[in-house]
Amino acid sequence: MAGILSAIKLREAGYDDFTVYEKADSLGGTWRDNTYPGLSCDVPSHLYSYSFALTPEWSHRFAPGREILEYFQHVAREHDVERCVRFGDELIRCELLDGRWHLETAHGHHDDVDVVIAATGVLHHPRFPDIPGLDDFAGAVFHSARWEHDVALDGARVGIVGTGSTAVQITSALVDRVARLTLFQRTAQWIMPQENPEYSDEQKASFREHPEELRRAHDQLSEAFSIFARAIVDADSPEMHMIEDACRANLESSVRDPELRERLRPDYRAACKRLIISPDFYDAIQRPNAELVTEKIVGVEPAGVRTADGRLHELDVLVLATGFRADAFMRPMVIVGRDGISLDDVWAKRPSAYLSICIPGFPNLFMLNGPNGPVGNFSLIEVAELQVAYILQLVARLRSGECREIGATHEAMARFEAERTEAATKTVWATGCQSWYLDDRGIPAAWPWSFDRFRELMREPDPAAFECTGGER
Ligand SMILES: Cc1cc2nc3c(=O)[nH]c(=O)nc-3n(C[C@H](O)[C@H](O)[C@H](O)COP(=O)(O)OP(=O)(O)OC[C@H]3O[C@@H](n4cnc5c(N)ncnc54)[C@H](O)[C@@H]3O)c2cc1C
Repeated sequence: MAGILSAIKLREAGYDDFTVYEKADSLGGTWRDNTYPGLSCDVPSHLYSYSFALTPEWSHRFAPGREILEYFQHVAREHDVERCVRFGDELIRCELLDGRWHLETAHGHHDDVDVVIAATGVLHHPRFPDIPGLDDFAGAVFHSARWEHDVALDGARVGIVGTGSTAVQITSALVDRVARLTLFQRTAQWIMPQENPEYSDEQKASFREHPEELRRAHDQLSEAFSIFARAIVDADSPEMHMIEDACRANLESSVRDPELRERLRPDYRAACKRLIISPDFYDAIQRPNAELVTEKIVGVEPAGVRTADGRLHELDVLVLATGFRADAFMRPMVIVGRDGISLDDVWAKRPSAYLSICIPGFPNLFMLNGPNGPVGNFSLIEVAELQVAYILQLVARLRSGECREIGATHEAMARFEAERTEAATKTVWATGCQSWYLDDRGIPAAWPWSFDRFRELMREPDPAAFECTGGER
């Protein structure tokens, strides 16, 4: 998403000499790697679209993953992006030498560039759980982001570890296909009820005939999600209470068995963890062939999963829906900035970046969807579009010859971090739950202000926050 976007926007701004490095053999990132049953976006598709490439063709309010992948590939084709992509080669090192970034790939290719835009993704490196005996399992075991499609599921006994959005989507998609579905839950989740209706042929035709309707749908959704974002950053707002009420009512009205209902009831506030959106998870988990296991997993054995109560849950397939290493960002790439400082050292405690884009000491290197950026239940496409426009303004200063290196100052970074961590304590993510939003100190590592504030700050870089050094090239 972000790499394709960068290529399109760079070309639009008149830059022709750029390369997109993609270690895989095709485009699509998240939507290429994740192919699990039930995958869809959890932000309405008319919002989860590039603002310059709205499409009337989305099949559902929350389109399936395959369709999203095709969308990105289609937009890339339309904008002739592929000819700028170097496929199948991983960038392993970027080093700043004499004001230029020297790049090295796994295949030994070298390149010298003025500017690096890191569009390496947030939820990219699968997180594998540390469960004793996992390798001893006699059946098939795989991560949800590496789905093994040749493994038979129909009539199988399938276990799923995890209860995030992915596990919830897989549960709903598989329960009617498998003999038994066992969901291993460490933490209960709040579920926001959301129907996923299909767009009728008439609706799509109307969007085709009246592009202004499509634009309106996008803008209205964007506004609605800004309200949602405001709720998240103010744990006591009326909007937050509305979200909590909706989740609670969903649990109360959908789960019949009081004992199961209590096991599904989280002991923290809604949206403290990424809010899960599902029209049918509670139905799925109440099917006769489904079981929710809340006992702690103590190990995996050839025949299945052993829990703390001594029970062996016999399985044929074990799916690890255990998420991603969300603090990796550009790593494991080795990045060496000014005076030989390495990013690994700068980020030894935790990743950070000024406005989630720039790291002091690493001029001319900019991140899309970097650390502490807006995450939550809204479109990361909108985030990346705002960031690219911001970055292009910085790059324009290099192009004009004003300087050779541009980067955020240490002072700007320190001020931003102080304000951000202070604000983070007021968000709903800090109200007492474990989540991937929290850093090593338990402070939410996410944009703690409204989305409107993000938009405002992305409008143009504050000149005082940047140093522009070195003369004309
Ligand atoms: C299951 C799932 C569902 C999601 N649903 C939503 C949603 O509904 N709404 C939403 O806004 N977001 C959602 N997300 C987040 C999603 O990741 C982003 O929306 C978006 O797709 C990220 O795009 P990206 O280009 O930044 O990163 P990615 O899609 O992760 O792409 C990064 C690309 O960089 C390549 N790459 C990485 N490192 C290197 C390297 N060193 N050298 C060469 N190539 C490299 C990777 O191969 C990959 O193709 C979801 C994520 C997951 C995992």
